[in-house]
Amino acid sequence: MSDFVRTVTGDVSPETLGHCQCHEHIFLEMDKSYEVAPVLYMDDYEKSLAELNDYRAAGGGAIVDAQPVLGGRMAELLEKASAESGVKIIASTGFHKTVFYYEDSYIFKKSADEIARLYIGEIEEGMLSSKQDGAKRLNCRAGQIKTAIDKNGIHADATYEKLFEAAADAALYTGAPVMVHIEQEADALHVVDFFVKKGLGPERLLLCHLDRARYDFGYNKECAQTGAFMEYDTIHRLKYHDDVKEAELIEFMLKEGFAAQMLLGLDTTNARLRSYGAKDMGLDFILKTFIPFMEGRGIGKQIMHEMLVVNPQQALKISKE
Ligand SMILES: [Zn+2]
Repeated sequence: MSDFVRTVTGDVSPETLGHCQCHEHIFLEMDKSYEVAPVLYMDDYEKSLAELNDYRAAGGGAIVDAQPVLGGRMAELLEKASAESGVKIIASTGFHKTVFYYEDSYIFKKSADEIARLYIGEIEEGMLSSKQDGAKRLNCRAGQIKTAIDKNGIHADATYEKLFEAAADAALYTGAPVMVHIEQEADALHVVDFFVKKGLGPERLLLCHLDRARYDFGYNKECAQTGAFMEYDTIHRLKYHDDVKEAELIEFMLKEGFAAQMLLGLDTTNARLRSYGAKDMGLDFILKTFIPFMEGRGIGKQIMHEMLVVNPQQALKISKE
């Protein structure tokens, strides 16, 4: 079977994605996430749709919604907004940091096998609907498996161990890519090692946030040397650093020869989306501001195209023998 990308509106050939930001948040329902950080909440259909329409108008073709099942993901709105805006959306099954779940969550009660079956079902049959809508099975499917490593690592507690086991099993079974949220101080190399030992190719992993979790050029280089994708999404996330520092890390990685492994995104929250009140940016920030900014620094159109159009085709494909 040839490779394809699984979007919420159907399977597509990887070449049809166009400009693709690989880690965003388009919808997030009221959930434990909001209690942890109130910026993690955007359930207004019209506002999120307006962001997607602006993204599309600026040249956006596809986007990854990084919120996993049971964590406030709103699968039915993703499908509806994708159909209406024309932006292809890749949704996530999998898990986030355990702090984002209530104590009685499925993830704490079920076994690794049961959780793996949930992830596989979401990729192969259909995603569960949002909590607001009761957990019924929808027709639209997830296209990637989100995982999250806390600073204490995979083996810090039995829940993370179980969740990572489930994610690895589901990835091997379905051929879907695995996104990894890397928390500050967490060891990304350890995660790569875990999945590789399970039999997954490093090129099936998307390591997220290393541009803020470990702003250390040597460490980023070491992670890229494993062959995993490096997804940078601290662009205009000014509480961490400015865009010059972001550009310096990207330029270092390009100079070191990792252009084919680089992915970009904004990791949006409601504070960074114009339609929810942000003053200086929306989902179209990379297209309208960051690409010209990088070009002004001497990074050619072709390189930006590689990171934003070509690499997502490889990173997001579902590869099944
Ligand atoms: Zn995120």
